[in-house]
Amino acid sequence: MSLYRGFETVIGLEIHAELACESKVFCTCRTAFGAAPNTQICPICLGLPGTLPRLNRQAVEFAVLAGLATGCTVAEFSRMDRKNYFYPDLPKAYQISEDTYPLCREGSVEVFGRPIGIERIHLEEDAGKLSHGKGVTLIDYNRCGVPLIEIVTAPDLRTAGEAHELVAELRRILRYLGISDCRMQEGSLRCDVNVSVRPAGSDSLGVRTEIKNLNSFQFIEKAIAFESRRQIDLICDGGTVRRETRRFDEVTGSTHSLRDKESAADYRFFPEPDIPPLRLTGADISALAARLPELPAALRARFAALGLPEADIRQLTEDRALADYFDAAAEGCENVKTLANLLLSEFLRLAEGEGFACPVPPERLRAVANLAAAGSINASTAKRLAARTWLEGIDPEETVSREGLAQITQPEALLCGIREVFGENQALISQIRSGKTAAAKALVGKCMAHFSGRAEPRLLTRLVEEELQK
Ligand SMILES: [Zn+2]
Repeated sequence: MSLYRGFETVIGLEIHAELACESKVFCTCRTAFGAAPNTQICPICLGLPGTLPRLNRQAVEFAVLAGLATGCTVAEFSRMDRKNYFYPDLPKAYQISEDTYPLCREGSVEVFGRPIGIERIHLEEDAGKLSHGKGVTLIDYNRCGVPLIEIVTAPDLRTAGEAHELVAELRRILRYLGISDCRMQEGSLRCDVNVSVRPAGSDSLGVRTEIKNLNSFQFIEKAIAFESRRQIDLICDGGTVRRETRRFDEVTGSTHSLRDKESAADYRFFPEPDIPPLRLTGADISALAARLPELPAALRARFAALGLPEADIRQLTEDRALADYFDAAAEGCENVKTLANLLLSEFLRLAEGEGFACPVPPERLRAVANLAAAGSINASTAKRLAARTWLEGIDPEETVSREGLAQITQPEALLCGIREVFGENQALISQIRSGKTAAAKALVGKCMAHFSGRAEPRLLTRLVEEELQK
């Protein structure tokens, strides 16, 4: 917990994630990102009079999966409502959402070992996108009607770092489920942050403000840090916090009042008359539960049981494709630490773009790790071989025997080469012997080069040191 002037910060999040459905939530328009403006629209998503929405089954399934993966209870009865507001990004002048009877309720997600409550997850439609220029505002309705889930957390978070980690974990979960690409820079994952402060140890909640539409981890952290300090300074100077919606200024890192917070009454919610209530049976919900993949937390626990270091586990489980690849390669591997190392250093360097796509069959990388584990090759040969399985498509075992890459471990063979290198480097050796010991490293390097990098490194270093003593 971080305290400033004796106050603690209380944070709740509302996270909007666009679902990876091919078509919109109430019509069959496409949802692809980046299409020319107003080319993915129809009378339904434009809200023209006389049109009727039809609920997208896949969007409901995806929302239920999100609920199940976050430990929520999925409602057998849920209902869409109209949320009325007049703004140019929403041509119908209302958004179809779920107010009174959301699809999922009361789950939790663990952050830094502590459960953070998920109050609800509901399904709704996205609005259009406004671009403000000099004296004009342009409207693109392609995003209008794109299926969205809103995940509302309990006010359980206490620091900007916890808020960051919760969004990161939810993003991992949604990506593992394959139900959202969660690209913050494209707006498919956006976050509203509710911030209030109270004297440390108090049970009651202070007046909260809401900061809208944050689309990067950095902005989420900065907005929380600024807003909590602003409220504490205001209270300590005798002022009171107003319930309002605020905007985060990305340039100055500060927040500014946008408008008084709307209350539910302002939206005049009422049941959506054009869409019947949604009734799911226990069997429907079980069938979806059976589709849940292994989730990031379970995977992290399993990788930790293999003895991998925390930093490697974090990196491996950030992307499901990478985790799956490691999983496949680790089966029957003699040294999973080396395997993880090769994957994270050599393969991640070669992988391009988002999402880990690897041309090397997992058993090839496992073969490299096993050769290293058995002492047949040294660590630097293992790295080079791993890179070559990717770049040249080589078979590691066959390459080691064909190119004679096996590690040299016989002292006699090593000594013979070391003496040759000593003979060629008399000046360097007398420098070392006269006290410039730092140069010994360069000498070992020359000896390693003499063996084309194949010498057993510890033995080589010891023999060089012994030779120098003579
Ligand atoms: Zn449409």
